[in-house]
Amino acid sequence: MSEYKIRWLEPTNRERQWLRRYTSSDKHKCTSTGSFCNAMFELGEADILYTKDGYIDGGREDRKPPENDPRWPTSCSACGRPFGADDPFQLFGRQVYVCEATGERTTLDKAPVGSCWDAWWISERRKDGPTGCAHMVGPDHRSLVVKLPGNHDWHVDTRARNCTMPDDNEHFCWVRHGHPKDGTLHVDKNGRTCAAGAGSIAVPGFHGFLHHGVLRDC
Ligand SMILES: [Zn+2]
Ligand SMILES: [Zn+2]
Ligand SMILES: [Zn+2]
Repeated sequence: MSEYKIRWLEPTNRERQWLRRYTSSDKHKCTSTGSFCNAMFELGEADILYTKDGYIDGGREDRKPPENDPRWPTSCSACGRPFGADDPFQLFGRQVYVCEATGERTTLDKAPVGSCWDAWWISERRKDGPTGCAHMVGPDHRSLVVKLPGNHDWHVDTRARNCTMPDDNEHFCWVRHGHPKDGTLHVDKNGRTCAAGAGSIAVPGFHGFLHHGVLRDC
């Protein structure tokens, strides 16, 4: 039996950046991963630039070093195949989050199991609108995500795949109680909900409940 305490992550205005080379998958499949060939060199942290609409500016074209910079990877980190001159040179970034309890900084792909955050790029435009699984925002107008074992992200406020009320937009397939920041977050079927499941979450390799601020397998 494994237990993971819910820990709240707050977004920062910094991003971790990588120099990334890859090949587009329609032309080529990596012999090692079956996906596209890929390699990343970690540069460090930088300020996030935002678009006019408040989203993270993913372009970064004018911020990347020249293509002859020796830090650009030259071959796929999985299969070793060399990149061609036409393969993209991408300055890749991921937002840095800070765990309020420990001060630990992380990106979401590396966040420990039990980490919890607001998918602000979903919730920010829906602060005044309706709530419910079709709107992907919960009762506090956050769009909560919880990190599960196997690096799966559980979008608690979205519609479950086995929802039995697909035409009802306002209910929650997972009903949450408590508060994500103070260790009381609790998810069950006690509220306006459908008949899907018992409030648990199942992903490949994990099935469990989030009760009283603790994620537990069963
Ligand atoms: Zn490869
Ligand atoms: Zn439902
Ligand atoms: Zn189970």
